[in-house]
Amino acid sequence: MHYSSLETIRHDLAQGKITVVSLVQGYLDRIAEVNPTLNLFIEVFEAEALARAKAIDARLSEGKAGVLAGMVVGIKDVICMEGHLISASSRILQGFESQITATVVERLLAEDAIIIGRQNCDEFAMGSSNENSFYGPARLPADPERVTGGSSGGSAASVAAGCCLASLGSDTGGSVRQPAGFCGVYGVKPTYGRISRWGLIAYASSFDQIGPLTRSVADAALLLQVMAGPDGKDHTSSQQPVGTYFPVQEVSGEKFRIAYLEEAMTPHGLDPEVYAAANAWLEARRNEGHEVKPISFPLLPYLVPCYYLLTTAEASSNLQRFDGIRYGYRANQPKDLRDLYVRSRTEGFGEEVKKRILLGAFVLSAGFYEAYYQQAQKVRRIIRDQTTAVLEEFDFIFSPTSPSPAFKVGEKSKDPISMYLADIFTVHANLAGIPACSFPMAFTTGGLPIGGQLSGKPFEEGILLGAVQSFSNSQ
Ligand code: GLN
Repeated sequence: MHYSSLETIRHDLAQGKITVVSLVQGYLDRIAEVNPTLNLFIEVFEAEALARAKAIDARLSEGKAGVLAGMVVGIKDVICMEGHLISASSRILQGFESQITATVVERLLAEDAIIIGRQNCDEFAMGSSNENSFYGPARLPADPERVTGGSSGGSAASVAAGCCLASLGSDTGGSVRQPAGFCGVYGVKPTYGRISRWGLIAYASSFDQIGPLTRSVADAALLLQVMAGPDGKDHTSSQQPVGTYFPVQEVSGEKFRIAYLEEAMTPHGLDPEVYAAANAWLEARRNEGHEVKPISFPLLPYLVPCYYLLTTAEASSNLQRFDGIRYGYRANQPKDLRDLYVRSRTEGFGEEVKKRILLGAFVLSAGFYEAYYQQAQKVRRIIRDQTTAVLEEFDFIFSPTSPSPAFKVGEKSKDPISMYLADIFTVHANLAGIPACSFPMAFTTGGLPIGGQLSGKPFEEGILLGAVQSFSNSQ
């Protein structure tokens, strides 16, 4: 039952080969089969999904179903759905039930998508391996000894393992794209503000975007089409008119200008197989007649430090609300109010989250604010301006999604710096606010997926996805 697109599902539904109920049951069976090993779902909405499937079968037979009828979606455990628990894979939200439904989920439900469950992720979306989860790591379907990537690890791996057709993740510095690359699926981070963040648990609000993980470009485009657009509940959602993403734009006749960052594409900075795959990809584009050029981006070494300074600052502020009083976990028998706060947060948060709250509080503190936080804001502006300048001359920027394929569970968790540095290619798009897509580019000789990444101009997701589609077809 390994469907790769909604189109094939709709075809089989129309032919009477399957029903939405049998489809959902198939996914539920698959989850039951793989979840004990892979640890992808924290909770499965079995009864609710089956009941909705029945109703959607009825609507399909009356010809009244929405455009997402047959789309079975998993959601990362940072996206709210009223009446369901939500934890951000953290102990501190133990037992907490969503009071609201995220705008993205509302929009999907209105078009008859089915939400099948909530998925494992790094705690508060902080991480690149899904090892920072209170529920333990999610594991790579292609090799369970390895990580899925993160932070939307459960979401990407569920799609790769055939537990749902698509997932929604969140991407602050690569959390949709990097696990998409590790797992061999598509992952899109839209332009900042393209999709409402209402109902998303905030990590770093000026970076966060929700994005789809899918097995086809068409499904990513369709989900984006349904989710995109202004939302009165999120004032950072953009008023820019939504483009045409679906049907995917046909651009195979066009010749594009593609830049790649010269300093990033070096054999010593990349795993040899990633390096080879990225060069082969660029060569293929050259052979198709696209203009492929190296560009110098001297700010490259500043991307990761700038990202981590600003996101930890925003996180320390966003996570203040988890104080043991208003939400979730509360320490036992506190001596006094201070003890209640200190112990609830000490016991409730995991190590990585605590580290980032401390780092964020430090860079915001008097005396360091100007040296770190304000400097990083200025650097972000320069990164943004220089990226805009590149995208005036070029249509897209290409890079591998990550410097290496999926690593072993435990391999990097003792070396946070190397884990942070591996975010170098993905954080760029969030710092600059531009859209970016990770796509399956190649496999290693050992069978591990290698992702490629294409970023484009703000609010031009339509052409970006069209190009990714045409390049994927010609691979
Ligand atoms: N790996 C990055 C981090 O840990 C990105 C996380 C994300 O995009 N949510 O911050």
